[in-house]
Amino acid sequence: MSAEEFTSLIAEISFVLLAILSIVRAVRHPRITKIHTSAFFSLAGLIILVSWGRDLGWLPQENEPLTTLVQILLISLPYPLLRLAGDFTGIRMIARRAAEAALLVSTVAIAASGSPLPTWVVLFVVTYFVATTTYASWMFMHAAVTMRGVSQLRMSFAAAGSLSLALLILDVGVMTFVESSVLSALSNLTMLAAGVFYYIAFAMPQWLKRLVHTSHLERFIRLSVEAAPGIIRGDSTFEMLESAVAYAMGTPHARVALWDADMGELWSPTLGGRHPLLVNPHSTVPYRGFQEQRAIFSEDAGADDLDNAEIYDGMVLLTAPVTLDNHRYGMLTAFGGPPPFLHTDDLQLLQVMADQVAVILRDRELLQEVSAARAREETMKLMDDFFAAVAHDLKTPLTTILGQGQRLQRQIRRGQELDTDAIESIVQQAVHMRRLVEDLLDDARERGQYTGDVAPVDLHELLRDLAVHAPSGHHEIVVEGESAIAPVDEARMRQVFINLLENAVKYSPDGGRIVLRAQPVESFVCVSVSDQGIGIPPGDLETIFQRFSRGSREPDRRFSGLGLGLYTCRRIVEEHGGHIEVQSRPGEGSTFTVRVPSEVGAISRKGGYAEARSGD
Ligand code: ADP
Repeated sequence: MSAEEFTSLIAEISFVLLAILSIVRAVRHPRITKIHTSAFFSLAGLIILVSWGRDLGWLPQENEPLTTLVQILLISLPYPLLRLAGDFTGIRMIARRAAEAALLVSTVAIAASGSPLPTWVVLFVVTYFVATTTYASWMFMHAAVTMRGVSQLRMSFAAAGSLSLALLILDVGVMTFVESSVLSALSNLTMLAAGVFYYIAFAMPQWLKRLVHTSHLERFIRLSVEAAPGIIRGDSTFEMLESAVAYAMGTPHARVALWDADMGELWSPTLGGRHPLLVNPHSTVPYRGFQEQRAIFSEDAGADDLDNAEIYDGMVLLTAPVTLDNHRYGMLTAFGGPPPFLHTDDLQLLQVMADQVAVILRDRELLQEVSAARAREETMKLMDDFFAAVAHDLKTPLTTILGQGQRLQRQIRRGQELDTDAIESIVQQAVHMRRLVEDLLDDARERGQYTGDVAPVDLHELLRDLAVHAPSGHHEIVVEGESAIAPVDEARMRQVFINLLENAVKYSPDGGRIVLRAQPVESFVCVSVSDQGIGIPPGDLETIFQRFSRGSREPDRRFSGLGLGLYTCRRIVEEHGGHIEVQSRPGEGSTFTVRVPSEVGAISRKGGYAEARSGD
């Protein structure tokens, strides 16, 4: 057998195999694309079988009707090819009608002429054939540009196959007029090319498919690694993953659908909820796939699910369960129209990607479990700390009260004169305890209002009164400024300044100077409490006004306190329509400034705010 004969035999075998394969596929799943594919390859296969029959002597060599039949079969070839290309891109009606008319004219001309065919018939038939197959090739190419992944590869090979077929017929056409060994070799070559290209397009070998799948899978894995942290944290949608899946599958869209056990439906996190394709109860293809926990390839979803045909609008759909260790997370669905060039075995690729999505979702679940456990732990720790601080703060004054009380008891028993310092100390500690309890009660009533009725109060006078009853005899407390009248709830404002003064005492060394100052400034009254104490680190300035917030330094922890004082102050001041701020420098001291409106009308219960500044 010569090399030429061998190449043409290979090409013929591939066409016959494709014919058998496409007929089997069309019979198993009678879809329009499969019918057009099988029509095209059956015609080609039949022509080849007749030629084999003649070569082997099973069919007569010189038989006019048989020759005419073969010629008609041959010129019919481009029509199903054109329809097939149209299945993927859509075909203009005028092109289709022109092809049908040309086919009819060619058939009649061939049937009427007998062999050999007149020159004009040959010219007409070859022109029609070449034009139609070239147009089909262009359509395949056009479809390839819009597609990705395996679909794109298949379309490109279908385009190359059709172009080879056009060249083959052109070559054969020229050979009817010119005898040339080059042309004959070229015809064998173009036929082989057409056979191989079509074979790759319509029956892609596993190794090639695996190669393409692997490269797309690598891309998907890379993108999924980038998208995973966002999805795991729960602050990103699945968009990046979905576009990587669509790219790999060559479908216009892909969606991750998560299972909502309460609603009994699938929902899309990207679309922020329901998607008709996913949730239409109990029947959509992805829903069915989820129930049966299997991957489904539906080449024409509308035909496979007639109840919801209008949702699919002629789309191809592949769906695979996102499941890990029997935990069903949802479905991964790739879909869209015009139908990409996909086969059932492309589901394997989708399933691998669905498995990867399941791994990401599992990580997210684990992280959520861990952070929930951590939050629980933190709450417990916060409560433990809180109760320890409350117990400690109540125990200290109680110890003093008890000690001093027992001392008075002894003095009474012995008929001695009572120690007034002891009585003073008991009262002071009881006042301190009452304040602690008030703070706690205020906090418990957090959503309620702090401020009651307001009346004009001279805050400068208030400061002087506080200074007289100061909680420490070890500090120098001075009052500066001038009369500053503002409408306030006196008891509450007193509580604010007592808090600030107590903090100034608490966080300053003995002998330190504390300045209380009140003065009107424009439409406000400004009251400040300055100390020369330990100061506040810049990092703490933002947080000290928050609930239960205490200084971060170790020395701060040595002073008793619940971290409620400044929080309460801020709430009270804000309810007066004012604000409280602090300026501080560690090691040098702090100044807390309260501003409240001096006009009644300026009080807005929500208008206030707290500010913190590092004093430099
Ligand atoms: P507590 O004093 O009970 O801890 P506060 O809300 O009154 O709660 O104060 C919160 C934190 O602000 C304190 O733990 C302390 O670190 C810091 N702080 C408040 N006042 C002063 C001050 N005058 N000097 C230094 N630090 C202060």
